[in-house]
Amino acid sequence: MNEDYYELLGVSKDASTDQIKKAYQKAARSLHPDVNPDPEAAEKYKKVSQAYETLKNPDKRRQYDMGGGPGMGGFPGGGAGFDFSDIFDMFAGASGMRGRGQGPVPRQRRGGDILRRTTIDLRDVVFGTEQKITFRTAVLCQTCHGSCAAEGTSPIRCTQCNGSGHVQRVAQSLLGQMVTMAPCPTCEGHGDIIEHPCTACAGHGRIQDERTLTVKIPAGVEHGTRIQLRGEGEVGEAGGPSGDLLVELSVAEHDVFHREGDDLVAQVSVPMTSAALGATVPLETFDGVQELRIRPGSQPGEEITLKGLGVSPLRRERRGDIRIELDVMVPTGLTEEQTELLERFSALRGEETPRTGGRRHGGMFDKIRERFRDL
Ligand SMILES: [Zn+2]
Ligand SMILES: [Zn+2]
Repeated sequence: MNEDYYELLGVSKDASTDQIKKAYQKAARSLHPDVNPDPEAAEKYKKVSQAYETLKNPDKRRQYDMGGGPGMGGFPGGGAGFDFSDIFDMFAGASGMRGRGQGPVPRQRRGGDILRRTTIDLRDVVFGTEQKITFRTAVLCQTCHGSCAAEGTSPIRCTQCNGSGHVQRVAQSLLGQMVTMAPCPTCEGHGDIIEHPCTACAGHGRIQDERTLTVKIPAGVEHGTRIQLRGEGEVGEAGGPSGDLLVELSVAEHDVFHREGDDLVAQVSVPMTSAALGATVPLETFDGVQELRIRPGSQPGEEITLKGLGVSPLRRERRGDIRIELDVMVPTGLTEEQTELLERFSALRGEETPRTGGRRHGGMFDKIRERFRDL
């Protein structure tokens, strides 16, 4: 996931700060949300800005070069904290170079992404589910429908820049007169002015409101899975395109089962006598009560598999299994009669003295030993 900042900006590892600045301005000219409405460009712009933010600062750059990382931006952290003066430079530079101005800057901006967390249980992971999610977000203003102007009014053309959105600046320098373009201060580069802003949204074209959405959660999702709902995030300023809603899932712990890949695993404890004689134990699964058959002579740590009752992997039909690990309970607190019976049993089996070594394979300790060997 970590992108190479030098690669992002298209400069070599030993580029000078000046070269880095030029590369950034060049990239930003085609990616800035004010000139490129494409959400993908906005995303790229964010990354490029973050790269620049790090590389333009010698300290941060050294840290990055040493592998210290960029100091990961949190989500939904609204982008890198770039200097506004860099953007200003960029537009001034761009217009100056081309000898003509940029067009007016549209008011529309893409809305932000929203992250919401929700908890589901293990049953939902097995079968998939739907969940209602309620959240506060920016929605389109129903009074002005995103135009930002009060009912019955419309924006008027800016007289300072004649609707172009920028003005010329003349400065005297040692090299002579310098003419640069700058965003028009009266209309902030929009080319028009909203004289009577919509009162419902204070001229933003959007308001905060509560929304409720039903989110489809497919079977097989994992703890931390994020479901992306395109265009369900904040509505943009002035009716700009909407951001996305990301729903991050937490899976609550289950009393009996835990998930291992596509399998559901649980421990079942049976009395020593059931393990020795065999038994059938009812087991509550997500598919109803199943019969767990314990064969005579079952050993501690032995596994019993119930095929096809586990989790379906994401976007696939086949389900995993339920795996039961047997725990054998040794009786305690024996009565006199029970002690007698066990002593007789022990004598019949010739088991009065414990064996050392020569243990049968497949016991719990062998399994543990095998696992350690695998590590
Ligand atoms: Zn409005
Ligand atoms: Zn203007």
